[in-house]
Amino acid sequence: MASPRFKRVLLKVGGESLLGDREYGISPMAVMDVAKQIKDIYDLGVQVVLVIGGGNIFRGISGEKGGIDRATADYMGMLATVMNALALQDALEKLSVPTRAQSALTMPAVAEPFVRRRALRHLEKGRVVILAAGTGVPYVTTDTGAALHALELHCDVVMKATKVDGVYDKNPAKHKDAKRFKTLKFMDVLKDENIAVMDNSAMAMCMENKMPVMVFELFKSGNLKKAVLGEDIGTYVATDVESVLA
Ligand code: UDP
Repeated sequence: MASPRFKRVLLKVGGESLLGDREYGISPMAVMDVAKQIKDIYDLGVQVVLVIGGGNIFRGISGEKGGIDRATADYMGMLATVMNALALQDALEKLSVPTRAQSALTMPAVAEPFVRRRALRHLEKGRVVILAAGTGVPYVTTDTGAALHALELHCDVVMKATKVDGVYDKNPAKHKDAKRFKTLKFMDVLKDENIAVMDNSAMAMCMENKMPVMVFELFKSGNLKKAVLGEDIGTYVATDVESVLA
């Protein structure tokens, strides 16, 4: 049987993945689907740090457009990620996957505060660590939280779940001959404004610290496991792509 390419991954799941067929909020079925995919890789022995977004409930930028002070709106967005974290924790535990939720905004009644060394210990003990509230500060998004946490928790890769199964040379929805890049260098991503993998600040942080980013589609069941097992899906963004894929 193929063995996993990574020992410890940071999985960044956008809030949209929890929408299912809704336009807003949390679909318990979609949450369970994401949880099942996480269980798949947990069962392979991969250590998982999960960073969940909040876009299915609230984004700071939209709040600001509606007249709310940007920092306040961002804190509201961070609270949205806590709701998503609890939903995923519930689903994972129903699948008998042990978890700990930690939040960058302290809320001891529902989640542990984020403490790096405790998070590392949970991973060593075989628990999926769910990180809520991003970085805990406004004016950034959960992508930046994902990059930061991947670095400080010594993950091998940031697995960024998106709606498209990787990065293409042109929009695959509009062009039938669009080609998916198997690998890309950070510089290529940062230079090309048509390529949006993560926020630029998160990408720059990954590039500076040589943290690879795997872009893949989570909406197809089984994709996360395939990506972890090194099957040819998604796009792998790194500094030294040749050696990583060798
Ligand atoms: N947010 C923030 N600081 C962080 C992480 C998130 O202020 O470190 C706020 C920000 O307003 C953001 C919202 O929380 O729009 C929800 O996160 P995000 O937009 O990253 O969610 P996703 O797009 O991944 O669902």
